[in-house]
Amino acid sequence: MMTKRIGWLAAASVALLAAVAVLIGGHAVHAAPAAALQALVLNDDATTQWAMHSTKGRTNSHQRVHYHGHSLVRLTPARAADLPALHQLLLDLNIDVWSALRGQVDVRAADAHVLKQALDRYLPGVRARTLVADVEKQLLEPHWHAIDERVAVKSVAAQLHDPKSWFAEYHHLDEIYEWYQLLAAAHKDRITLMRNVGTTHEGRELMALRFTNHSSTNVTLPKKQVYVQGGIHAREWIAHATTQYIAYHLATSDDQTITSLLDEVEIVLVPIVNPDGYAYSWTGDRLWRKNRRADARGVFGVDLNRNYPSHWGEAGASKFRFSDTYMGPSPGSEPEVQALMALFDSLPRVVAALDLHAFSQAILHPPSWTLTDTVHEPQLKAMGDAMSQIIKSVHGKDYVSERLVDLYPHSATGTDWWYDQSRPLDNLAGKRGVDAMNMSARKTVFRPYSFTIELRPSQEDTWQTGGSGFILDKREIIPVGEEILPAFLYYARTALDNVLIE
Ligand SMILES: [Zn+2]
Repeated sequence: MMTKRIGWLAAASVALLAAVAVLIGGHAVHAAPAAALQALVLNDDATTQWAMHSTKGRTNSHQRVHYHGHSLVRLTPARAADLPALHQLLLDLNIDVWSALRGQVDVRAADAHVLKQALDRYLPGVRARTLVADVEKQLLEPHWHAIDERVAVKSVAAQLHDPKSWFAEYHHLDEIYEWYQLLAAAHKDRITLMRNVGTTHEGRELMALRFTNHSSTNVTLPKKQVYVQGGIHAREWIAHATTQYIAYHLATSDDQTITSLLDEVEIVLVPIVNPDGYAYSWTGDRLWRKNRRADARGVFGVDLNRNYPSHWGEAGASKFRFSDTYMGPSPGSEPEVQALMALFDSLPRVVAALDLHAFSQAILHPPSWTLTDTVHEPQLKAMGDAMSQIIKSVHGKDYVSERLVDLYPHSATGTDWWYDQSRPLDNLAGKRGVDAMNMSARKTVFRPYSFTIELRPSQEDTWQTGGSGFILDKREIIPVGEEILPAFLYYARTALDNVLIE
């Protein structure tokens, strides 16, 4: 089958080469031989020379990374048609994209003036408005102050049955792992703790939990499965917190929506996909996104959500080690991704899979890498729209429902890879919601509904409050959980009853 590849990639590389030159030297663009520029682009170590003074990946873990003078800038092209070229330019300039929706892109720039100059020269007509003049002063200083003031008033054990207390704070890695272990131990009737499903570069454990009502489990009629993960990007702390919120309610709630679901399904949850990165976001760099892959020259990290073997490197991923979207040396190269894939492969009956991210308030379905719809576009869009309505009904928040590619083209994501995994319908033999459809339409395989949810804040809420983005106030943890949990329950139930077949 012919697939429409994203055609602007090659065209945008011309703008890239020119822009790289201006950022290195600030002049002599036209005099620079193309071959020399090409060499710079392909030379990994050159990245740091033109990465707009990025401090990322260059400190040891005992130091805090600062962003003095960095700005958050909103970029709005005059023509929507320029958006793909803008994204390609930002990618190749190693600019950290925070949010992209509705034709505008919010980025962190080490030097907003230089960024604006580059845009004026190579993509004229892009309006640039500074939203936060100094990221360090306005966002990170208050954040680190709060972290330093944070005192554990209660032990993790004491908070296990006190969700108001637990969800009043973000928690660091050790606390979260302890909390999940205690939760599993206290709810053995519903939770099986899966230890060491993988090991990270820094030797940390990847943990998973399997939720189901054990007393309703029948070995001859295995249950369908739902897969959830959170925290693939370290700095998106609300994703880690929301994963805990979902887990807590699956473990403890007597609500019939949840108990009936657990009677029929196994929910496998990986609460912290990127523990190395998350730990580092607490001790070193609050804006760290990737894992902590290192070599003799230092830590650079791989964007785990650009590393899955699904159209790896085809769009919206960087070849440069220091880029926030570095795709890694090869597809599936990272131990975290390998472990997650092995776990997923061990679950033959997954009818829905979900990845929790922040921010932008969006519910996103495949594909991420091509403009061509999947064959399941109507079902996926309807699912996203319904979740969006449920979320809005709770606290009035608007979550956009669209394809991943509509956010911006990217590739090798977990969400796309899950959708790629078609399994024989026979795996689900005897389960309602499949047999009738299967008989009439001669379908033979099913795929998981696959979604990414970008949590709060929205672009608008972020800047109306003076800037937050990834630094979402801890008082939002419970409201976000309250709006996402019912959407998740709807998602699982609908996938269970309407398996995505073909
Ligand atoms: Zn993310």
